[in-house]
Amino acid sequence: MSSIFGEFLKFSQDKGPEVQLRVYGDEFYSRYESMSGYTVVYDQDQGLYCYAQLISGEFISSGVALSQSPPNGVARHFKESEDVRNRKFEARYSMMNPPASAFKPSLNLRTFGSVKGLLDGRRVSEGEIRGLAVLVQFKDVASGATREDVDRFLNGLDYHEDGNFCSVREYFRLMSRGKLDYSNKVVGPVTLNRNRQYYTENLLVKEALDLAVKDGLDLGEFDSQGAGVVDAMSFLYSGQTQYQGMLWPHNNFLELNYNGIKTYFYILSSMGKSKEDLSIGTFCHESGHMLCRWPDLYDYGNRDGDFEKSAGLGAFCLMSAGNHNDEGRTPAPVCAFLRNLVGWCDRVVRLNQPGEYQAVHGDYGTVMIYETDKINEYFLIENRFGVDLDASIPASGLAVYHCDSLGSNEWQGGTASRHYQCGLLQADGSLDLETNRSLGDETDLYQRVQAIALSHDTRPTSVLWDGSDSGLMISNIGEPGRVITFVIGRGVADHAFRTSSRSGQDIPDSNSKGIEDFISIDQVGKAKRLVVDVDITHENISNLRVDLISPSGKKAVLHNRTGIGKKNLQNSYDSQSKASLAALLGQSLKGRWTLTIRDLARREVGKLNGWSIEATY
Ligand SMILES: [Zn+2]
Repeated sequence: MSSIFGEFLKFSQDKGPEVQLRVYGDEFYSRYESMSGYTVVYDQDQGLYCYAQLISGEFISSGVALSQSPPNGVARHFKESEDVRNRKFEARYSMMNPPASAFKPSLNLRTFGSVKGLLDGRRVSEGEIRGLAVLVQFKDVASGATREDVDRFLNGLDYHEDGNFCSVREYFRLMSRGKLDYSNKVVGPVTLNRNRQYYTENLLVKEALDLAVKDGLDLGEFDSQGAGVVDAMSFLYSGQTQYQGMLWPHNNFLELNYNGIKTYFYILSSMGKSKEDLSIGTFCHESGHMLCRWPDLYDYGNRDGDFEKSAGLGAFCLMSAGNHNDEGRTPAPVCAFLRNLVGWCDRVVRLNQPGEYQAVHGDYGTVMIYETDKINEYFLIENRFGVDLDASIPASGLAVYHCDSLGSNEWQGGTASRHYQCGLLQADGSLDLETNRSLGDETDLYQRVQAIALSHDTRPTSVLWDGSDSGLMISNIGEPGRVITFVIGRGVADHAFRTSSRSGQDIPDSNSKGIEDFISIDQVGKAKRLVVDVDITHENISNLRVDLISPSGKKAVLHNRTGIGKKNLQNSYDSQSKASLAALLGQSLKGRWTLTIRDLARREVGKLNGWSIEATY
């Protein structure tokens, strides 16, 4: 299932033009608002979206179409009562889940991975899996995309059409390092007997499959395990995605039987109005549920007794909201936690040994794990860098996940008994994801941290959910990039020293050559932090240009003619806040450091009293 958190989407009306509505919810319960924030419902009689009234906690159509001004008695952002929401959810849920012979997942299982973190039910996450993809068109809505278009979209190699990063097949090959080769046979389009609106209330799966089988389809082709069960089945309907009732993209199971071959898990999604609308994100997300039994890593907000939604891993993982990144064309990768749960990571790097480590971006076959004395609770570390499938995630740097396979991303409270299955320790110390304030931001991942970044007494902290110390300490995190370095443990102690020069040189007025002053450093080592103090007396510092040049000749501009009319430049420049100085980090310290000062305007004059360099290495 994929939830929508307040996105604006287009909806068709039987008796009116297309409208844009704000959507909240999932296929079991959803709410729609007009652009100006009024809750609306689809009025079947009018064939139009109308303002909703609230009668004893339930939405009733006011009969006043959205195109008109809101009637009296309606207010913005109406919500149904908890009971009504629960009742509607249950009704829709049991309608979509007819009683099953073998197995029926209970309500709370969609984010609670009862099988070592995974959803229960048959998993086919390795090998050559051949799925069935049935194209479906309605009596009133024909498909704009052809079978060939969808075939390339699902199975294409080197596929980049319509802005998609790759095909669905390539996505799973990449994530699984080739362990899962998931391709689909595309059949149809089959044409259903009724108009689209009918199928918002009636599941189209059986009718579509009957039509496909009548055309001579043998379901045995999709039973790779010889279990008499179809491994994977998807229904792609024509027209734009309808976030409404039973046309809301989802995954579920339906037990049908055709010549002894049983159906089970299926996913339902749309193929859009035309091939340009084909985007791999949601299809990959739903396939992740169906094939790999991955739980959702976000929080629907209406299952566990509290209605608090939370973003879980937000835009950082396919199984939270990352399937929507770049409008679903560059979905986020599957996070290390889930890849490891299905056994896709052959290389395990244990981080319990103090020392320096490096994490390579896109190395999906590797898991970096810090184990604790609890088998179910541990920390994972992963390099996330804004390229390839990470191109649309909110931040770059080192991701640290606090994992507990007995947790659930429904439980945003973060208590000893109820906490996330996989939570991102947001480097900025915020709980934006847990409190649903955002899907992630640019300060969520660790980067360029000289000292201790994470330990038992930092915020966030590396203590376990029961409050005990995990012993995990991470420090000295490097630059974000295809490779990022970090230190487990305290690492080699940093050293620092300060050296200065008292000059007293006059700065020639309006002279592009200016003066130079030097500080020689004998210390061997790479600069980890630089703090440069400058003390210049001058009548107008906007005349001045001050540069620092490292022994290797690399230049950092410290002051460039700002501060009109201001006297005297007595400043301390810190590489932790001054980007140009930060560019000198990693430089060898040993040698002659040069400060150049040029007065580039007439009349006002001054002199260099002194300056110093404090270096940490
Ligand atoms: Zn889902």
